[in-house]
Amino acid sequence: MKQLIPENIKEYLANTPQITFEITERCNLSCVYCGYGKFYSDKDARYDRMLDTQNAIAFLKYIKSLWDSGYQGAEANILHISFYGGEPLMNMPFIKEVVAYIEKELLAYKKIVFSMTTNALLLPQNLDYLVSKGFRILISLDGDRIGNTYRVFPNGQPAYDYIVKSIDYARNTYPDFFRDNISFNAVLNNCNSVKSIRDFFMENYGKTPSIGEINTSGIREDARELFEKVHKSKVDSEEEAALESKPTCFQDSPEYMRSARYIQTHSPYTYHDYNELLLGRGKSNRMPTGTCLPFAKKVFITVSGKILPCERISHKYALGRIEDGQILLDFKEIADKYNAYYERVNRVCQKCHDYLSCLCCMFYNGQLENEKSVCSFFVNKQMARVNQNSAYSFLRKYPEAYSYIMNKLKIV
Ligand code: SF4
Ligand code: SF4
Repeated sequence: MKQLIPENIKEYLANTPQITFEITERCNLSCVYCGYGKFYSDKDARYDRMLDTQNAIAFLKYIKSLWDSGYQGAEANILHISFYGGEPLMNMPFIKEVVAYIEKELLAYKKIVFSMTTNALLLPQNLDYLVSKGFRILISLDGDRIGNTYRVFPNGQPAYDYIVKSIDYARNTYPDFFRDNISFNAVLNNCNSVKSIRDFFMENYGKTPSIGEINTSGIREDARELFEKVHKSKVDSEEEAALESKPTCFQDSPEYMRSARYIQTHSPYTYHDYNELLLGRGKSNRMPTGTCLPFAKKVFITVSGKILPCERISHKYALGRIEDGQILLDFKEIADKYNAYYERVNRVCQKCHDYLSCLCCMFYNGQLENEKSVCSFFVNKQMARVNQNSAYSFLRKYPEAYSYIMNKLKIV
């Protein structure tokens, strides 16, 4: 198994394609399934704080200093800067100051793309600015009125009508921007379905939304019953949608995504990373699990200045912090930490039949919870055979799917 060294971490950080700032804990909604809400125990408590603008700028200056010292790789020529909350539009002064710094200091180094995820309530009054800076905006909306049962104001009143009004304002005021820069994300729950969500967005906005499940890790024991009621599995709902729509092409088949993932990850023509491409496919060249290398995919800065490899994982996995404008990152400590995690999970992973094709994140699959915990997606021999048979029978039914899956579909 390959070992990480401090220099690797520094390079990944300098060339990270995305930096996300959690700029406020404030939100004008109080969604029942919120990742920081009553279901969860693994995130820091929320206190209405705002991320200190000078700390964020200090972090960007630190990244710039890495570029100036020769760590900027030639291929990493786009950096995505994302603003995350809470509701990011509740901290516009932060956004304007950071964007102004970036435009003055960083544009000479690479192309910068700004983005945010928002509930859209404050979109109308901020739209002129966001359009002028070419923001990419992801609006959270769970389909129709019923599907949005859990998107509510703090007093419990439904937010659906207000959100739709803001979206309509954006569409009518800047139709081109709406078409090119605005997309949607829906959270699957027991009041909607993959089909109802897709139908809603296609009929009303001519768009296909991304659809996510409610986060299943870090659930509080006293909230488990309500969580189970509200949570809906995406795989199950996709299969239901496919059954209801009577597939006319392979993309409509209930087995499509599962089979496509199997085919790509087991193909000798796809590579998980450059090590596999150059050194061949084998356990010695591959890190266990599908976890991204630290900062290689993104960096997430929490409102209190913690530095994490992404926003989806527990804050206990923070890799450093920003304090009074100082960047506290110890690259050796991070490399040692990851090597120790890999060594620990590898004891189970090397017995797993999905080892060479795993896309699972170790921060997310329960493996690191405690000494005895194991991955909830472990694949034994029998399960591996079932997966293989199911992919083969899919290909026998839709032979034309192979070329599309290998050449056009992006999963890995
Ligand atoms: S969930 Fe895991 S693999 Fe995915 S970006 Fe976050 S840390 Fe990386
Ligand atoms: S045990 Fe889990 S993380 Fe490890 S290879 Fe199998 S599916 Fe992946």
